Amino acid sequence: MRTAQFYLSLSAALVLGCLVQADGGARAEEAATFHQSDALKQHYPDIPIPMTAPALAPGRSQFTSQEEMLTFLAGLGARSSHAAVSMIGSSQQGRKIPLVLLSKEGLADPERLQKLARPVVWFIGQQHGNEPAGGEAMLALSAALADGELTPLLDRLTVAIVPRANPDGAANVQRTTADHVDPNRDHVLLSTPENVAIHGAMLRLPPDVVFDHHEFSVARRWVEKFGGVQLSDAMILYATHPGVPPNIVALAKDLYKPSIDQAMQAYGLTNILYHTTGYNESDKTVAMGGNAPGIARNTFGLTNAVSFLIETRGVGIGLEDFERRVASHYVIARSALRTTYDNADRLQQALAQARQSNAGASDDLVVAHRLKQTQLPLPLRDPQSGEEKVVTVTFLDSRQIEPTETRARPAGYAVLDRADVISDKLRLNNVAICRLTQDANVDAQAYAVTSAGTATDNEDFIDKINPKQALQVKLIQTQRSIPAGTLVVTMSQPAASLIAASLEPDSPGSLSSVLMSWKDASTPPLLRVTSLKGVRLAPLRDSDSSICR
Ligand SMILES: [Zn+2]
Repeated sequence: MRTAQFYLSLSAALVLGCLVQADGGARAEEAATFHQSDALKQHYPDIPIPMTAPALAPGRSQFTSQEEMLTFLAGLGARSSHAAVSMIGSSQQGRKIPLVLLSKEGLADPERLQKLARPVVWFIGQQHGNEPAGGEAMLALSAALADGELTPLLDRLTVAIVPRANPDGAANVQRTTADHVDPNRDHVLLSTPENVAIHGAMLRLPPDVVFDHHEFSVARRWVEKFGGVQLSDAMILYATHPGVPPNIVALAKDLYKPSIDQAMQAYGLTNILYHTTGYNESDKTVAMGGNAPGIARNTFGLTNAVSFLIETRGVGIGLEDFERRVASHYVIARSALRTTYDNADRLQQALAQARQSNAGASDDLVVAHRLKQTQLPLPLRDPQSGEEKVVTVTFLDSRQIEPTETRARPAGYAVLDRADVISDKLRLNNVAICRLTQDANVDAQAYAVTSAGTATDNEDFIDKINPKQALQVKLIQTQRSIPAGTLVVTMSQPAASLIAASLEPDSPGSLSSVLMSWKDASTPPLLRVTSLKGVRLAPLRDSDSSICR
C-alpha cells in the first residue's frame, strides 16, 4: 500500500515536474553530457565585457525560459525609444516567436523601416534548441542596441533580431522543432511554422546581412574519433553554395571575416572555419558545413545577402563556460554591426550589383559538384590535461568545388504540379511569381528521373540533407503547349540562384524533389522554358509587376 502510494506521488511529482519544466527554464544539467576537467576549463575564462541577459545572472542553474525571455524583451520595448518588439508567429507547441526591430526612430512598421534605406542586419538565435548561448547573446545584443553601448550604430543601421527561432526546441533542450525537423535544413522547403514566421517577417524587411547563431559539440564525436575536444571558441562560415554571387562571397571573406578575427583576438578569443563530422565512428572524414541550399547560411547568400553561420563551444556542456560562450557570440555580432556601419555604402553598392547581375546572368548553373578533399590540421585539446594537440584529418572543403554537372540556365520554370504550395514557399524567399495570361507553345526541357535513391543518416552531414532529395535526372528536349494560368518563375530576377536551387530536382532538398510527383513521365510536373519571348505574363501579386512583363 505504502509502495503504491509512494509511486503514485512519485509519478505525480514527475508529471508536475514536467509541467513546471515546460514553463520554466530548461535545466542546464540535463543538457550536460560532458563535464570538463578543471585543467580544460582553465583555458576558457570569462570575458570582461558588460552584457545584460537573464541567464548571465550569477549562480544560475537554468537556461533562460520562454517567459523570462518575453519579460526581458517586453521591458526593452517599454523603456527604449529605439526598440519595437512584436510576435511574428507561434511554435508548434504554441510558444511565441518574438522579433526585435531596432532603429534610431524606434519604428515598428517594417515597410517604413525599409524606406529608411539603411542597411538591414538580421540576427537569428537558437534555431537549434539545445544551443542556448547564441539566443542569450541575441538578448544581450538587443539590450545593447536598445539603450546601451551599441545604440549609436542605429544612426546608419536597421537591425532585426529573432533571439529564439525554435522555442519548442529550447524548452525541450532538443536540436529540432517539435515535429523533429531540423530547422536549419528547412529554409527552402519551409515546412515548419517557425521558419514560415521568420521568412514572412524577412519578406517585409529584406536582409542585407544575416548572422545565424549556433553552438557546436565540444566533446562527443571529437573525443570518440580523434581523442580530443574542440579547441576554438567559435566556428564561422559564410555562404558557400556555388550559386552565391562572387562579390557577396568576397565581402564576407575579405571584409566581415577579417573584422571578426580582429574583434575576437582583442579578447583572446579564437575561431576556425566551421566543420563537422558524421556519427559513424569509422568514418573520420571532417567536412566543412555543406552546400545544401536549405541551410540558412546558404539560403540567405542565394538571396543576395552577406550571410554567416556562427557557432561557439556549447553543445553537451550545459552552462559551463556560459559567459564566455555568450561573449563570443556578442563580440562577433558587434563586429558584424560595426563592419556594416563603417562600410554601409560599399555594402549597399555591392548588393545592388549582385542583385542586378543575378537577374541578368547567363552562365551555366552548377547543379552537382564534388568537394575538394584536402588534409587539415585540426586543433584539439586533450580532454583531461587541456593540453593542445593537433590531429591531421581528411577534410572536405565546401569552398573548393569541382562541378560534376552543369546545366544551361532556363529563361524560366513552368510549375505544373502543386503550383500553389510551391509558389507560396518561393514567395517567402522573395521570389516574384508570374502567370501565363494566354496559352503558349514553348520550347522547353522536361526531366527524366534516372534514379530516386534515399540518403542515409550517415551522409546527412555533408550535403545529402533530405531523404527525398536523392533524385537524379536527365534533360529531355521538348515542345509543349502550356495553358493560360500556369505559374511561371522567370530567372530574370535577383533571386535567380535561389530559384534554380529550389527547383532543379537534383538540387539537395529542393522543393521540386520533395513536393512534386515524379511518378508519371507523361505529365511532367516542371518544365524548364528555354525562351519566354512572345510569352504573355502577368504578376501573381502587384509587387511582382516589374519582373512579370
Ligand atoms: Zn546549430
